[in-house]
Amino acid sequence: MKTIFGPIHSRRFGVSLGIDLSPSHKQCNFDCLYCELAPAATVETQSQTPTVEEIITDLKAALREHNNIDEITLTANGEPTLYPHLKELISEIDKIKENKETLILTNSAALVDREVFMTLLALDQVKLSLDAVTTDIFKKIDRPHEGIDISRLVEAVVEFSEMYRGKLFIEILFVRGLNDTKEEIVKLNEVLHRLKALRIDIGTIDRPPAYPVEGISYGELVAIAQQFDASLPINIASRGHAEFSQSSYTEDEIINTLDKRPLTPEDVEILFDEESKKRLLRLIEEKKIEMIERAKLEFYVPVENMQRKRKK
Ligand code: SF4
Repeated sequence: MKTIFGPIHSRRFGVSLGIDLSPSHKQCNFDCLYCELAPAATVETQSQTPTVEEIITDLKAALREHNNIDEITLTANGEPTLYPHLKELISEIDKIKENKETLILTNSAALVDREVFMTLLALDQVKLSLDAVTTDIFKKIDRPHEGIDISRLVEAVVEFSEMYRGKLFIEILFVRGLNDTKEEIVKLNEVLHRLKALRIDIGTIDRPPAYPVEGISYGELVAIAQQFDASLPINIASRGHAEFSQSSYTEDEIINTLDKRPLTPEDVEILFDEESKKRLLRLIEEKKIEMIERAKLEFYVPVENMQRKRKK
């Protein structure tokens, strides 16, 4: 079974080699509407798995060929935390990773299992998905395995964020007509405030989904980003549906917009017309706006906003 893929170049996470912990077929405790894999019955445990030895042999060979990477990413055709030898695997990777960081991409459900919870604390980076926080919406979007309870899952995510010392990322994927409502966003906002995430990526469906559901537009994602509190490190991660409706912003509007929600150069490219881009450049020259780096991404922010934060 082929367990290593990549290197993958990602704007958000840099260059990584991926480890597929379920190379034979999809094995997941969710059956998300938006999954880019085919629909499949949910499972609680993996039935077919590669051994730790197989994975480490493949990884060593891949690292010999591609040593210039940032991360080794644990992922799967399904959910990587269902891999039964995760603790042993992470400790074996730590022995050979040198300056690379370990990262896992998980749907968060297994954090309610104390053993998995403690195992994930050993990773350098963790990305937790959290698409919804109310039972009804969670069940509709993520279609979890029987017995997975969203309230317990949320509390486990909050506790993990308090104990974890590595880089924590949260990802929310929006599906039209489900978790994009005002009510769900207010509730998500409350939970996100309790987390110590380095970055919160919000996105939508960019690839053909498992079920007939629709993503939302880039403009709608921008509007959702504005509904979250300005203090949250929100990043708009999907640009696949970006419609180029550029607008004109005065200097004051640029400062106010960036004060409310820092934007990346890619956001500015989509949202600002040519004159507004020139105004932004002027504000940078006048040192009213500066560029900061947050978890590998660059954002424009008002200098005053940064000074306020530094004083806190
Ligand atoms: S958690 Fe990931 S792999 Fe599992 S169904 Fe959802 S999107 Fe697919």
